[in-house]
Amino acid sequence: MKIIDGKKISNEVLDEIKNHVESRVNNRKKVPHLAAILVGDDGPSQTYVNSKIRACERVGFNSSLFKFNDNITEDELLNEITKINENKEIDGFIVQLPLPSNIDQEKILTQVSPEKDVDGFNPFNYGKMTLGIDTFIPATPAGIVELIKRYKIDLSGKQCLVIGRSQIVGRPISILLSQNQSFANATVTVAHSRSKELEKLCINSDLIISAIGIPKFLKSKMVSDNSIIIDVGISRVVDETSSKGYKIVGDVDFEDFSQRDVMITPVPGGVGPMTISMLLKNTLKACELKD
Ligand code: NAD
Repeated sequence: MKIIDGKKISNEVLDEIKNHVESRVNNRKKVPHLAAILVGDDGPSQTYVNSKIRACERVGFNSSLFKFNDNITEDELLNEITKINENKEIDGFIVQLPLPSNIDQEKILTQVSPEKDVDGFNPFNYGKMTLGIDTFIPATPAGIVELIKRYKIDLSGKQCLVIGRSQIVGRPISILLSQNQSFANATVTVAHSRSKELEKLCINSDLIISAIGIPKFLKSKMVSDNSIIIDVGISRVVDETSSKGYKIVGDVDFEDFSQRDVMITPVPGGVGPMTISMLLKNTLKACELKD
């Protein structure tokens, strides 16, 4: 088993961003500023937002956190987004998902100004991504693409199976990897909860990207030798030996692969850190586009 080290690559990307920020400061250019909107007190969402803010500090970005109670109305949240859209200090911002069920997520994401939409979820930017036009690529699929590029994985003509069809991971990565781009050109299949004969699809794939959120779903017997496995899943499972009472596991039964000849992203330390560094890369891009 060979590890695809997302933590290491993410650190490289963050160092590159830090160097950019330093040179911007030396040239008296604006310091990039990322803002995050957090609604409610969902534990994992708070953890993700905190890691994003910490990453901003690491690269020298400014950051702001806008926290709202989960009784905020849709109209109030739309107004808050308008204010951030108009705030010249903020270059890019994200709305941490999921939102409470009384708020229409689509309406909220559409309100985010496309120039500040560093998560790439505004339908305008999502459409551009689909058409292969330069834009903000959602951070998790962008992170997977970055791993593929930096590990010089050649996907041209290869069979790629994406398990999961969410708007934030499965759908966009399937679009990106099928495009006529040097890092892509794969033959992509998208599997989901209604797919039949998933084991057959897995065994015939050169690359498997799993984004379903079922702990240890993918077993060694389901994949062929020499395949590449990208584990996007993040699930909390009970772990009484840990002080937190839980541990994080992916969709892949990692230990089950220890004797197999495959390349694999660990959880934690794989796609997760890449997501954060790509969000910051998008924020730098948003800032530079205004120079
Ligand atoms: P989601 O939770 O919105 O949807 C899950 C998807 O899995 C659906 O498309 C569903 O059709 C599919 N699915 C469910 N059961 C299946 C089965 N038995 N066989 C085949 N497909 C099945 O998806 P999401 O928001 O992309 O999240 C997926 C996982 O990825 C979660 O664990 C989430 O926490 C994680 N995630 C990680 C990152 C990261 O940075 N590493 C980012 C986003 C999401």
